[in-house]
Amino acid sequence: MSLWLFAASAASLLFGAIGLMYWGLWGDRAKGRLRCPKCWYDMQGSFEAGKLECPECGKDAGVEKRLRKNHRRWWAMVVGTILILPAGYSGHIGRVMWIDQRVHQELNSSINISFEDLRFEKMIEQLGRQLNVEIDVDWQELESVGIEKNVPVQFVLKNVRGDLLLDLVLEQLSGGDLSWTVRDGRVIISRQEVLRE
Ligand SMILES: [Zn+2]
Repeated sequence: MSLWLFAASAASLLFGAIGLMYWGLWGDRAKGRLRCPKCWYDMQGSFEAGKLECPECGKDAGVEKRLRKNHRRWWAMVVGTILILPAGYSGHIGRVMWIDQRVHQELNSSINISFEDLRFEKMIEQLGRQLNVEIDVDWQELESVGIEKNVPVQFVLKNVRGDLLLDLVLEQLSGGDLSWTVRDGRVIISRQEVLRE
């Protein structure tokens, strides 16, 4: 599903929830009317005739005050409250997709790199700065396939898109063992098998 679908469903669920809760609480106020507190039958006539018992459902209000109650629909309050959960969840997913999309946009721009005799770790730092993204390297996994932080690297490239650059650098370093992905607004570098999980 696309980002906008999540954003739209989050918004409609939230408005639905607020609407339901508002309606449940304030949708049917007494506004001076006299009504049965059980079935909301109009009790004006009965009250004037001196009766507090509902001719419709038989409920005895007992005192006049109870005929002036606002009609609260508690089920609407409950459903509205429950709707907050999927609204929040959709909003969260939409937000994560949005921040990932921003990272992909940054990786779409082209940069020049000139890394000469740089350690791998430093190169990643510099690459992140140039691409304006945060890069997390799973060093433990890299070391497990023999790629150390301080392995010297050498790359001089002009006008290369960020995503292709990552592919290229990792391919050269590992011969296909390493890969990258975007997760929670960050670029993650690890072993291909680990990222596939
Ligand atoms: Zn009644």
